[in-house]
Amino acid sequence: MMEAIRLIDPHVHGQASGCSSIADDALLEWFLDRPHQAVVVSDHASWDFYQADWAKDFAGRTLYATEITMEGTPFDFLLHTWVEGLFEEYREELLGRGRRRVPPLAVLEDSRVLVTFAHPPLDTPARRVRWPGWFGRMRIDFLEFNAVRLRALLGRLAVSREPEELRKAVQTVNGRMLELRGHLAPEAKFSTGSDAHVVQALGAAGLALETPAPDGETAWRELQAGRYRGWLDLRRLGNYAIDPVSGLQPKPSAAPTASTSPPALGVVSIRPSAGERLDDD
Ligand SMILES: [Zn+2]
Ligand SMILES: [Zn+2]
Repeated sequence: MMEAIRLIDPHVHGQASGCSSIADDALLEWFLDRPHQAVVVSDHASWDFYQADWAKDFAGRTLYATEITMEGTPFDFLLHTWVEGLFEEYREELLGRGRRRVPPLAVLEDSRVLVTFAHPPLDTPARRVRWPGWFGRMRIDFLEFNAVRLRALLGRLAVSREPEELRKAVQTVNGRMLELRGHLAPEAKFSTGSDAHVVQALGAAGLALETPAPDGETAWRELQAGRYRGWLDLRRLGNYAIDPVSGLQPKPSAAPTASTSPPALGVVSIRPSAGERLDDD
């Protein structure tokens, strides 16, 4: 019998994404070891992961996902549905052959699809970004606090990693996200995702459902209703919670750990760790 879904990382890249070094076999292992984790892989304009032989065995705990990119602009959207085969119905629109001036609005407006604005730009206040007009014509269900982008941005805003500086940087980033929501999608909820491209990044972020869901459809509806809380592990930059309404929150117990900031000396290394890569998207 399938176990209930409690955890969901909505943003993971497997081998269909050229930028990812995670083999689908490794993802399969990862999900097998974590029976409470929904099976979600959001490859770029691909849903190959779900078409493998073993995918059927996971159908009960699967959310189907893909990430699409607007050509010529830096805007990416994650799509999630519980309906197997839905992306195949929208195949041409999702593959986006030729020039894509406007997003595939028919897919984005399908009520069986949840739309996440993946890593919206937070290095600039929303009022200074030139938003294409089609933003006003599409529904955005979630705004994502992306683990990879956030580590880079907080790292730039809080170079010393001092707790006070980090606290201010978190406030700044969340303030920009709140402004962006007001500007672009006042109804949207906040979400998060690891955007994992390497095995070590799996599990760095995700959403914990308030009530465990027996299947992908129920999990999808719980997400839609905002009945979850996100977590984000930014390593030396701390651990955070994501509230669907108020956004990025430091976790009470989550000051950078002793291993990354020697408490007595107050000296914090600012050398980037080997794992700090910017291979996002
Ligand atoms: Zn992306
Ligand atoms: Zn991505």
